[in-house]
Amino acid sequence: MSLNHVRPWRNIYRRTSRQIMVGNVPVGGDAPISVQTMTNTVTTDIAGTIAQVQAAAEAGADIVRVSVPDEDSARALKDIVRESPVPIVADIHFHYRRGIEAAEAGAACLRINPGNIGSEARVKEVIQAARDHGCSIRIGVNAGSLEKHLLEKYGEPCPDAMVESGMDHIKILQDHDFHEFKISVKASDVFMAAAAYQQLAEQTDAPIHLGITEAGGLTSGTIKSAIGMGNLLWMGIGDTIRVSLSADPVEEVKVGYEILKSLGLRHRGVNIISCPSCARQGFDVIKTVETLEKRLEHIKTPMSLSIIGCVVNGPGEALMTDVGFTGGGAGSGMVYLAGKASHKMNNDQMVDHIVEEVEKKAASLEAEAAKDAAE
Ligand code: SF4
Repeated sequence: MSLNHVRPWRNIYRRTSRQIMVGNVPVGGDAPISVQTMTNTVTTDIAGTIAQVQAAAEAGADIVRVSVPDEDSARALKDIVRESPVPIVADIHFHYRRGIEAAEAGAACLRINPGNIGSEARVKEVIQAARDHGCSIRIGVNAGSLEKHLLEKYGEPCPDAMVESGMDHIKILQDHDFHEFKISVKASDVFMAAAAYQQLAEQTDAPIHLGITEAGGLTSGTIKSAIGMGNLLWMGIGDTIRVSLSADPVEEVKVGYEILKSLGLRHRGVNIISCPSCARQGFDVIKTVETLEKRLEHIKTPMSLSIIGCVVNGPGEALMTDVGFTGGGAGSGMVYLAGKASHKMNNDQMVDHIVEEVEKKAASLEAEAAKDAAE
């Protein structure tokens, strides 16, 4: 149960946006903030791409994007869509035919900028294909590929230029009476992206897709994304997110969830609270947490677990978690259940025991949720 009414400093007031559908996933309005990733296989490697989509979905991705650079990829998309457990967004760059083919192949959304397609007739055709096949559109403005006239007007990529580009693309869709769209204004520079998204949020009620583009490798990209997207989400901006990392798409999904979890915006799986450890630790905190992270990956039910090295912070943290373990003396520690000290456990049996306790708790939470849903 949320206790935000007694902890108002935890409240985040989400910007009011329209809701659209990406396949069966609602984006915007009061829909949960969805987590996306993108495959990095060659799309014509159908089996490899499907495997990556499935792994991402298993890790919690709500939506997966697939690049469609050529006709063969558009053909492959049909099989990928058929096997995918989540809606697929087709990433199209300039060629309008790919957009039409992707819509026909069953893409749930096209990532395409209507201003880059070419003639009015082509724009019309793509929008018609999206409409005919129940496809939404994501306008994806990127600081690195702004239109020439905007670069001339503003001198360099900047938030004003990005938002103007986004609003121009929006106008094209609106002029064609197409409103099932969301929009992103990405930049690899955190300041530029954050400023652009804030301006954009004031100018449109379209759902916003957040991203810090080309953020970097696993560690640096995670930090950049957490700062950039974290601040925007905290301000209430953002309806769907993609963390861009030079890493496995599964890592992008995990980081996306961690950002949302940190802000209490969405929960999935076990949120482990652990201390950094020091000379006082009663067991090897770092190794234990590493092992538990892996052993608890299969738990999808939102719950919390505290793993704390000693009594300095252990009981206090355990008070606020579903399951807790606090190191003590003589090779054993205290297990906490629902915030209360429950029983002692030897360090050498502790990992197996904690996994069991977490699985038990997850099963009881799931049973409760099923009962509530049935009532
Ligand atoms: S909780 Fe104990 S073991 Fe962990 S960092 Fe603090 S003092 Fe050290």
